[in-house]
Amino acid sequence: MLLRYLADSTDYKDFVYGIDHLTQSQKVVLFERLKVSIGSNDATIQEQAEVIEKTKEPIKITRVIGDKPHSSIECCLHCGSVAIKKHGTTRGGVTRYICKDCKKTFAENYGLITHYTHLSEWQWMEIIRATIDGLSLTDIAKNLKISTSTAWTCRMKIYQSLKNIYGYCDHFNNITEVDGKYERISFNGLKNKEYFIDKLGRLPRHHRSKKDRMKYLGDDFKRLFIHKPELLKEMILHGQKKMLGRDTIDINHQHLCILTAIDRANNIYIEAVTSGAPKKNDISKVLANKFSDDAFIVTDEHNSYKDFTRKNHLQHIIIESGKHIKHSFSLSRVNSLHSSMDRFFKSKEYRPATKYIDLYLMMFWWLEKNKDISNLDMVTKLFAIMTGSISAESRANLKRITIKELTARELPIDTKGFY
Ligand SMILES: [Zn+2]
Repeated sequence: MLLRYLADSTDYKDFVYGIDHLTQSQKVVLFERLKVSIGSNDATIQEQAEVIEKTKEPIKITRVIGDKPHSSIECCLHCGSVAIKKHGTTRGGVTRYICKDCKKTFAENYGLITHYTHLSEWQWMEIIRATIDGLSLTDIAKNLKISTSTAWTCRMKIYQSLKNIYGYCDHFNNITEVDGKYERISFNGLKNKEYFIDKLGRLPRHHRSKKDRMKYLGDDFKRLFIHKPELLKEMILHGQKKMLGRDTIDINHQHLCILTAIDRANNIYIEAVTSGAPKKNDISKVLANKFSDDAFIVTDEHNSYKDFTRKNHLQHIIIESGKHIKHSFSLSRVNSLHSSMDRFFKSKEYRPATKYIDLYLMMFWWLEKNKDISNLDMVTKLFAIMTGSISAESRANLKRITIKELTARELPIDTKGFY
């Protein structure tokens, strides 16, 4: 029923932005117009909104693109057994099930991100729309009257759910371009001081004055004063640039490699794998079993790829440096994907801390996989996924995601012991 409320996504976006530029009297007129438009002769908009918010029943999505719609539960969401039967309803009117094998019960909306928040489904719909349209967290927070941290958490839950369902699932059986892209490791979200002091040998860049630096060090000042007086002196007195190097991490390892593969059927693999350049074992670890025997791999001259294709008996085309094409092969698809990724990361919506880069890349992967459908269809599809209208197999991967799990996660790359 909410779907009727969404006009073409671009129109809607402009419309919501436009609200802030209206005069008070224009807003009153608009308010009255909306009342008529919604058809509320006997209820005020406020009452209608309350009805929507109180509706615990999941919105039934009738039009789902791609994934087959499955509105019903086909197996136990705890153990996967198909020996389940209905077991009454929850207080909110949601069907409960009991598993004959593990004896556990669960509600139909078990594990859905929309079930574990105070936000109503229309707010989730709006967050999904804003995410796909590239709105900033500040805008989302303002439009929905929620805090930016709530908006952030919701978005991360969407990303994490996508990873739980689809994480690196694509396989390649035709001409596949493989390449790495390097991004500077960002320590936003890694609030651990020890990373900076003991591993990087510097302080976060925004601590400019001596006073700021002393304040940041806090209790660690004493520890460093006793054990590493030289490092302490350098941290407090010298410019940030000078602090790089020494026995701490070399500059290469302050970059991470985002390994990427794309074929002509738009199968995509994209994952941050290592700090510094990936070695042959790193490539094998993540790419083994992703290619069928008749796949063709196109790469640059990097030795790690040669080893991988030889060991896996895959046909390998190497594009020499300085050349763009060999026979009819090139790295244009993977390059174009990397350009899209740059645009994605540069928009204000998606500025990732390395700690969450796997989740951002998963969102990017999903957007790229669905780039041929309209934004409105993407919103509909992603909302359907988040509310469980997906295959039974995928449904079991939708698990409850807590804020604690999100913030306690480790760096999602092989850091080679550097961090
Ligand atoms: Zn079970």
